[in-house]
Amino acid sequence: MIITGASSGIGEATARLLAQQGAKVVLGARREDKLKRRIADDIGKGGGQAAYQVLDVTKPTDSEAIVRLAKERFGRVDVVFLNAGIMPTSPVSALKTDEWNQAVDINIKGVLNGVAAIMPDFIAQKSGQIIATSSVAGIKAYPGSAIYGGTKWFLRNFMEALRMESAMEGTNIRTATIYPAAISTELLNGITDPAAAEGMKKLYDTYAIPPDRIARVVSFAIDAPEDTTINEFTVGPSKQP
Ligand code: NDP
Repeated sequence: MIITGASSGIGEATARLLAQQGAKVVLGARREDKLKRRIADDIGKGGGQAAYQVLDVTKPTDSEAIVRLAKERFGRVDVVFLNAGIMPTSPVSALKTDEWNQAVDINIKGVLNGVAAIMPDFIAQKSGQIIATSSVAGIKAYPGSAIYGGTKWFLRNFMEALRMESAMEGTNIRTATIYPAAISTELLNGITDPAAAEGMKKLYDTYAIPPDRIARVVSFAIDAPEDTTINEFTVGPSKQP
């Protein structure tokens, strides 16, 4: 199983849980020290099997390289969890155009690069599962999330169309899209707009739940029988309105 955005938060929690459950995990993100020293080593010490690859999802060649590594190390790939993302929340009027471009590059093109890298194998195998992390901001618009939410709305459309095409084409590629609400991770660190940062901090301080809650959902989607697609999950704190 390949996991992008595995150096912290939801990706890290998923890598740890799935490895504990016996999956062979290949971790990808940009921060090598976290991938290696904090996560892959820990998983190995706990008796799990993990490899890692420094990965920038905006580079198609990096996505191809992690697929190659996974096949070299573990023979084949059955699941990719395309989870890497950033959340540069700000009002449109702040015109943080560099951040808009970054969000599109990472949250949209990064997922497309991952899909392009794995599809040839999944088509040849006539099986495979692609899981993506969208957001509740990919279902409903919020002030400050025009661009971030837009990237996550894209994923909803893309994953649903991919699911339908796979069914029609008989490739047996299963999809699952996860829409988390407030999850306690490093995600807020990337917000540069002071008002947006303060608002989100309050929200997360009040409600956020740990990232292993999402890992459990990923595990559930993977465990479903081959003929069953667990298509979409909205997952968040019970107390968050
Ligand atoms: P974190 O910031 O903890 O994790 C984000 C991960 O993405 C990190 O591992 C980071 O690693 C990686 N990443 C960022 N940019 C790149 C890149 N260019 N190439 C490769 N990896 C990259 O936050 P979360 O765990 O919360 O975020 C995971 C996903 O969950 C994101 O897609 C986010 O939008 C989504 N989400 C999170 C919610 C929450 O409340 N936490 C709510 C809704 C959705 P590195 O910096 O090492 O590259």
